[in-house]
Amino acid sequence: MARVYNFSAGPATLPLEVLEEAQRELTDYKGCGMSIMECSHRGKEYSDVHEEATANIRELLGLGDDYAVLFLQGGASTQFAMAPMNLLGQGQTADYVNSGAWASKAVKEAKILGKVNVAADCADEIPTRVPRADELRLTPGAAYVHITSNETISGAQYKSFPQTDAPLVADMSSDILSRPFDPFLFGMFYAGLQKNLGPAGAALVVIRRDLADRVPDSVPTMLRYKTHIEKDSLFNTPPCFAIYIIMLVTRWLKKHGMDKIYKQNVDKAARLYAAIDAGDFYRGTAVPECRSDMNVTFRLPTEELEAAFVQESSAHGFQGLKGHRSVGGLRASIYNAFPPQGVDALVAFMQDFEAKNG
Ligand code: PMP
Repeated sequence: MARVYNFSAGPATLPLEVLEEAQRELTDYKGCGMSIMECSHRGKEYSDVHEEATANIRELLGLGDDYAVLFLQGGASTQFAMAPMNLLGQGQTADYVNSGAWASKAVKEAKILGKVNVAADCADEIPTRVPRADELRLTPGAAYVHITSNETISGAQYKSFPQTDAPLVADMSSDILSRPFDPFLFGMFYAGLQKNLGPAGAALVVIRRDLADRVPDSVPTMLRYKTHIEKDSLFNTPPCFAIYIIMLVTRWLKKHGMDKIYKQNVDKAARLYAAIDAGDFYRGTAVPECRSDMNVTFRLPTEELEAAFVQESSAHGFQGLKGHRSVGGLRASIYNAFPPQGVDALVAFMQDFEAKNG
């Protein structure tokens, strides 16, 4: 079997054990004579999957009963609109921290729906970074404060979260379940599935139940958190297969342990940053104190060399190293499931490429 080292930012590499388990169970799920994709979402087989996926997420994140765990369709981008629709009342202001391309998209959607104060903005700075807590100009009585915990494109990540009076809402699409954090700092956090959780097209939303009561009457049923809380994400047909993969991925996370995965993530990133810092040939794009453990972004001396790097690395079985089309450069996305051997192989390739082209 030829598996490449897949450095894609998302959809991203999934644990091989998970793919193999899904393959084994694909045509006949637990002897029921059909795949889990073909089972009724109201039947016993799927209900067990839904329950286990939810329970695993609760356990891994250490959530109390005051938080609801939801699986919602439309990816993380739908949450850019759903959060203000549900949480930003008329006449209120929401504070948004603009740390990059993804935060900017969240700001844009919120502005369609209500009053937004951009509390800090470093989206266009190079080297890339996230704003410090002391830079935030927060609105007294704000409806909430929105941050992006990890900017997937720029490779800048919060290493500690700001403490805010208003409920803190975070887009954690590209670093959810990659490190321990205190969920009680947050009123809500959400993540598209396609990096650390499973297949694309849906989002995990964790929300403090009381915040869902704020929803104005004008919000349609499917777009109300309250609807999905009351029906346990089964108001309509959920993305059953995606939730089944979340169940397998979270089982895998529990088996290996969050502490071990976190240490491994830090170690993988440190080895890549050490290779970048070893000389003048490679240049990291994020300020050192904000360097992401998930998306390692860097540049080479010229765009021609960057193109050659992408091409040659692909011939070596490395996929997805080209930086996002909006910024160029290189990006190695090394989520939970990315194997440490793949990082070692990339470091060796980088050293070799520099020796030939430096
Ligand atoms: N937020 C962040 C931080 C992301 O990285 C992405 C996707 N790469 C999104 C939001 C959008 O996710 P989706 O494509 O699931 O809407």
